[in-house]
Amino acid sequence: MATLDKSSRKRVVILGSTGSIGESALKVARDIPDRMEIVGLAAGRSATSLLAQAAEFKPRAVALYETAGIEALRGQLPPGTACHGGAEGLIELATLPEADLVLISIVGTAGLAPALAALRAGKAIAVASKEILVMAGEEVTREAAKHNVPILPVDSEHNAIFQCLVGEPARHIRRLILTASGGPFRQTPADRLAKVTPEQALKHPTWNMGRKITIDSATLFNKGLEMIEARWLFGVPMDQVEVVIHPQSIVHSLVEFVDGSLLAQLSHSDMCFPIQYAVTYPDRLSNRLRPLNLAEVGSLHFEAPDSEKFPALRLAREAGTVGGTLPAVLNAANEIAVPAFLDGKILFPAIWHIVEAVMKRHKPVEHPHLDEILKADAWARTAALEEVTSRLIACP
Ligand code: NDP
Repeated sequence: MATLDKSSRKRVVILGSTGSIGESALKVARDIPDRMEIVGLAAGRSATSLLAQAAEFKPRAVALYETAGIEALRGQLPPGTACHGGAEGLIELATLPEADLVLISIVGTAGLAPALAALRAGKAIAVASKEILVMAGEEVTREAAKHNVPILPVDSEHNAIFQCLVGEPARHIRRLILTASGGPFRQTPADRLAKVTPEQALKHPTWNMGRKITIDSATLFNKGLEMIEARWLFGVPMDQVEVVIHPQSIVHSLVEFVDGSLLAQLSHSDMCFPIQYAVTYPDRLSNRLRPLNLAEVGSLHFEAPDSEKFPALRLAREAGTVGGTLPAVLNAANEIAVPAFLDGKILFPAIWHIVEAVMKRHKPVEHPHLDEILKADAWARTAALEEVTSRLIACP
């Protein structure tokens, strides 16, 4: 095998290293060690897992958001690994002098401030946490342009589109077509959705992911968030972003060009594919991932989404079209409704009823600054909690 130039080795910080995406990223790092060096790892509260990762990868620094576990962690880290805590600790990691690329894979909105800090420090960011582009797409893309650093999409759909657009100017795009598996309730009649349980909703048909995104896949809010994410990543208006249901999750998304040609990216549903591409871009590298055999796949199925049954797509299109603070409000209300459903407090359809009710109550601020976005986010969480309370399932 040819020896690789040391300069092509990316020094990577992973924020959210103990989660589903973080673990996949570490798998990629084990697979291509000549091209991916882990220099920083951060988690929310999983001190034990973070410690095990630090022992294996010996990064320059780690950070734990929940400071309660810091002291125990500090005493056991490998020599030479610094330890930080809290929100400031995430910023330390995001701006680590030794880092070239910061992977943002924190669930929820805690990744926003570190993502902005990384961009301002001139670091490329690889984004799995769609929430940050949904909340603050205008600000995040503006900062990336200002500091001339790339935002590399890790979400499989956006990574697919990114691959299809290599060498293509924006004027060639007619439509971006996001594929959606349709989730576990694709074939469940609408009038049965009120009876589905958290256990059923957590059984995703094709992807193995964290709990929050798995529920979002069942409601289709995940696809709604991705529509807004695509709008910012690729600089197109919302009406050029569409969704098609593709239950096999083999075609990860498509671009339709103005001449009517479609390009798609296909692979097995394994997040290591998009993570590796984000790390090695613009290069490609052979690996140990399972290649796709189309003859074994046989046929690929596509169908139109049902926006009546799953209103998340309609609500996300509205939020993305109106813009301003409305996408942050949609995201925050959903972040409150999902755990309420998982805790058995509300029924499954109440998730989108709550999001819609909170969106209706909000007066969007146009071209918001970060503090206005955070204010809208906090307001929406309080409003969503009120909506949850008014929809609590009566205990027998
Ligand atoms: P998980 O729930 O599996 O993992 C979340 C990670 O975030 C954990 O490492 C967790 O640490 C960390 N975390 C949570 N809160 C904080 C905080 N305040 N500070 C620092 N770290 C924190 O989520 P996923 O990996 O599934 O998803 C992560 C993001 O990637 C989400 O935005 C999701 O939408 C997106 N995504 C996920 C995909 C997937 O296949 N899983 C696909 C595409 C996008 P701890 O373990 O300590 O709690």
